[in-house]
Amino acid sequence: MSILDERLTDEIEALQAILLDDELRIVENDRGEPEVVEALVFPSTGEDSESQYVCVKLNVTLVPNYPDAKPIVSLRNPRGLDEDTVKKIQKDVDAKCEDFIGQPVIFELIELVREHLTTSNLPTGQCAVCLYGFRDGDKFTKTECYHHFHSHCLAAHVVASEKSYNEEQDKLPLWQKDATNKFQALCAVCREPISCDVSSLISAPPPLDVEAATGFVLTQELQEMQRQMAELYVYQQSRGGIIDIEAEESKLLLTTEDDPVDERPTPASTSVTTTSNNSATVQPKQQPPQQQHHSQNHNNHNSNSRQNHHGHHHGRNHHRGRGKGHVRRHLERIRQGDQTSR
Ligand SMILES: [Zn+2]
Ligand SMILES: [Zn+2]
Repeated sequence: MSILDERLTDEIEALQAILLDDELRIVENDRGEPEVVEALVFPSTGEDSESQYVCVKLNVTLVPNYPDAKPIVSLRNPRGLDEDTVKKIQKDVDAKCEDFIGQPVIFELIELVREHLTTSNLPTGQCAVCLYGFRDGDKFTKTECYHHFHSHCLAAHVVASEKSYNEEQDKLPLWQKDATNKFQALCAVCREPISCDVSSLISAPPPLDVEAATGFVLTQELQEMQRQMAELYVYQQSRGGIIDIEAEESKLLLTTEDDPVDERPTPASTSVTTTSNNSATVQPKQQPPQQQHHSQNHNNHNSNSRQNHHGHHHGRNHHRGRGKGHVRRHLERIRQGDQTSR
């Protein structure tokens, strides 16, 4: 075994002894030699892993004559760190590699990154719920996926999601209800499943910035902006833009052949927003020619008939989601098929 190999194998052995299994990953090449060393680095907070708000993956690619040549190091999956901090760490890491040419450097790098993380062990950026930052004194929570929220905000997010989940469940007909399909809270940033104790989070005070925020004042600047928007609106209208609220209201729903011909008029204001110009132009491609969408100009014909299918479970207000409308209708037809086959 060459001297180089020994320096490297000693280093790897030391890393394996120091780091926990889930903090270290060594990728070997097809000759069984270590090629990439990946370490998950946390700030030092003693035993208290609950108060680690940041982390980053240090990825070290070993070049063939490492440690006499410097490895290629990158920082991946930074959590709770802003871009500038990551850049700064990267710069220091590169300098350290330069300094340590000829000597094993990975442990040094880990320590260096850990120092940085320890000093910036406060979530940077904003809470994705209230869009305010984190202040000293704010109560905040770190999810399993290392995203941060004010505890107050996270509780509000979970409570609201559960409420809307339950509402969706209540809308389902009995035969479709699945009691085993329980609500799962998801991270508001990455949608990973998270577990959190809402009852304790909810007692946290609202974020300081939210509390300190002043009420809305219509400043001159805003008035000027409103004036510009009003002009833009008139312009868009004259160009056939689609944000004309009145025109939106008299727009039409698509009808398809398997919808029954129950054409009771519906008040326009409650029904028509489901369809946009977009879906009207896209839809025909997916349909046989005889299933045309109808372009009547007054009341639309569909929302009532759809309601009849599903009785009181589906109020027509629930069909108002723009764009999702035709997907939902499609799903409903499938469900309907299910239902009749039972
Ligand atoms: Zn917040
Ligand atoms: Zn997340």
